[in-house]
Amino acid sequence: MITFEIITIFPEIFKCYFKESLISKAQKKELIKINVYNLRDWTDDKRKTVDDSPYGGGLGMVMKIEPIFKAINEIKSFKKDNPKVVLFTPRGKKFKQKIAYDLSKEERIIFVCGRYEGIDERVLKHLADIKLSIGDYVLMGGELPAMVVIETISRLIPEVIGKENFLKERITNDKGFIEYPQYTRPEVFSPEKGIYWKVPKILISGNHKEIEKWRKKHGKKI
Ligand code: SAM
Repeated sequence: MITFEIITIFPEIFKCYFKESLISKAQKKELIKINVYNLRDWTDDKRKTVDDSPYGGGLGMVMKIEPIFKAINEIKSFKKDNPKVVLFTPRGKKFKQKIAYDLSKEERIIFVCGRYEGIDERVLKHLADIKLSIGDYVLMGGELPAMVVIETISRLIPEVIGKENFLKERITNDKGFIEYPQYTRPEVFSPEKGIYWKVPKILISGNHKEIEKWRKKHGKKI
């Protein structure tokens, strides 16, 4: 079982998402475990402050290092496994299937979700093992990236999506993945009179060798 530990200032965001679909089943089957922590629980002041203004001036607020430091340390101390700390930032390494594949071998991972104008750089420098970006755009927080990464990793855990063979079909090795165009019934779809959108003949030929060749050929980005 792999455990995902999420540090956020918006724990409620995750509730509905992780209660649905295969992610929910995976938790029930104890294939994965998800714990969501409110960063404000590691603050000392009445207002539970997690941010402050940036040194040098500038717009917005920056997440402070102290509560994050305390949260990571306490969550780490729950077990003796030295979990990896993954921090989300648009400046991070681009998240790819290969990274998910590597992370799926971990026993426990701590995710730090940023908010405001970002996180004190000392967290990135001294506390995070991996800095991840899910794309070249800026979101409001690290919660969606955490869901994206957790779902991608979970899919790779044997039994989470049911059929291991199905997974093998898509994941060739740790270098990446092959995706290809998919079709289902009807064989011919007519959006209007005289126009026919057909399923490629090879896919209904029953010739598995040729189908595999076709899939390899078409397994490219579109
Ligand atoms: N300039 C800030 C920075 O470089 O981190 C942007 C802060 S953004 C408004 C707030 C938080 O959202 C970030 O700290 C990060 O955790 C998360 N975030 C935003 N876009 C992201 C992306 N593309 N990938 C991963 N995390 C992202």
